[in-house]
Amino acid sequence: TGTEIAKERKAAVSVRALSKTFGQGDYAVTALDSVELDILENEFFTLLGPSGCGKTTLLRLIAGFELPTEGSISLQGEGITDKPPHRRPVNTVFQSYALFPHMTVAENIGFGLRMLGKPTAEIKQTTERMLALVQLEAMAGRRTDQLSGGQQQRVALARALAPAPKVLLLDEPLAALDLKLRKNMQLELKSLQAETGITFVFVTHDQEEALTMSDRIAVMKSGKILQIGTPRDIYDRPTHRFVADFIGDINILEGTVERTDGYLATVRLRDGSMVSAHLGTASARSGNVSVAIRPENVRLAGAGETPTLTGVVENIVYFGAATNLHLRLGTGEEIVIRNPGAVDEGKYQPGATIGAIMQPDLIRVLE
Ligand code: ATP
Repeated sequence: TGTEIAKERKAAVSVRALSKTFGQGDYAVTALDSVELDILENEFFTLLGPSGCGKTTLLRLIAGFELPTEGSISLQGEGITDKPPHRRPVNTVFQSYALFPHMTVAENIGFGLRMLGKPTAEIKQTTERMLALVQLEAMAGRRTDQLSGGQQQRVALARALAPAPKVLLLDEPLAALDLKLRKNMQLELKSLQAETGITFVFVTHDQEEALTMSDRIAVMKSGKILQIGTPRDIYDRPTHRFVADFIGDINILEGTVERTDGYLATVRLRDGSMVSAHLGTASARSGNVSVAIRPENVRLAGAGETPTLTGVVENIVYFGAATNLHLRLGTGEEIVIRNPGAVDEGKYQPGATIGAIMQPDLIRVLE
C-alpha cells in the first residue's frame, strides 16, 4: 500500500502540521489545515483536488514563495521552512510557461545555469543534454515565441530541469494544452521523471491525469489531505465519500451495520439485502453507513443467479467498449452497472426489471 512504500524509502519532502491562513479576522481564509505529508525520493507525487482546495498553496510553500502560518517543511531531512526560494534545491514549472520571448530555446534552457554562474562549457553541455531529453535539438536556435504550445511547455520543463533540482514542482503544467497534446505530454512527463530520477510534485484537478501519471496521489479537500495512496489505492480502496466521488464513477448506497468481523462489516442495505463490505480505515463501525462500489464491479445477474439488488432499468448508455445500465432500486436509490461491450437489446430495455450482482470483496464502507 502507499503507507508501506513510504516506510521503506527516504523522504524527499516532509511536511509537518503545515497550516496557512490568508488574511485576518473575518476575512481569514484557511488555505491549508494541519497537513502531514512525506513525498519520497524519485517519486512522481500528485496533489489532486477541486479548485480552491489548497494544492497551489502547498506547492508555493514547498517552493518558498509563501511562508507557513504554522508547521515545518524539510527537504531530504534538512529544515527549509524559512529559507528563501533561491536557497532551496527545488524548481517550479507553472501553467503559464513564463519563457523569455526574446531569447532562443537554448538560451532559455541555459538561463538558470547562467544565474548560478556555471562555466560556459558546462552550460553548453547541459543545454544540449536537456534539448535531447525533450527532443528539441532541431529548435535550439529558435525564439520561443515561434514555437507551438507543446514545444513551449517542453522548453519550460527543460529549463526547470537543467540546474538538476532535487525536487521539481509542477503546477498544472499541461492545463493550457489541447486534449491530444496533453495526453502525449502526460506520457512524456512520466518518462522524463523516470529518466532523470528527480522527485516530481505535480498539481492537477484532473483525476484521470493523476491516475495515469502518479506513483502516489494525495487527494485534498478544503485545505486537508483526505487520503494518500497509489492510484489503485485511491481508485479501488477510497476511504472517504469525497474521494470515491471525485475519482471516477461510483455507486453509493446507504445501509446499517449489522455486525463486524475484523475488517469486514455485514451491512443491511435499505432494500433489505445484506452485503459484506470492507471497513478499511473507516471509523464508522456501527449504525448508518454509506457503502460504495464501482460500476464495473456490478454485473448483470444471469439466469438462475440470486441478484444482490433488483431494480428497473431507466437508461441504457452504450459507448463502444462498455454499456452503462442505470437502475432505479425500490428504495429510490440509483445504481449504474457497467457491462463490458453491448447488452442484449431485446432483454435489457428501459422499464425492464432486472437483477444486479455486486462483486463481493469490492464493496467499501466510506468515511
Ligand atoms: P486551483 O485549482 O483553483 O488553483 P487550489 O487548490 O490550487 O485551486 P489555492 O490556490 O491553494 O487552491 O487556494 C486555496 C484557498 O486559499 C482558496 O480559498 C483561495 O481563495 C485562498 N487563497 C490562495 N491564495 C490567497 C491569497 N494570496 N490571499 C487570500 N486568499 C488566498
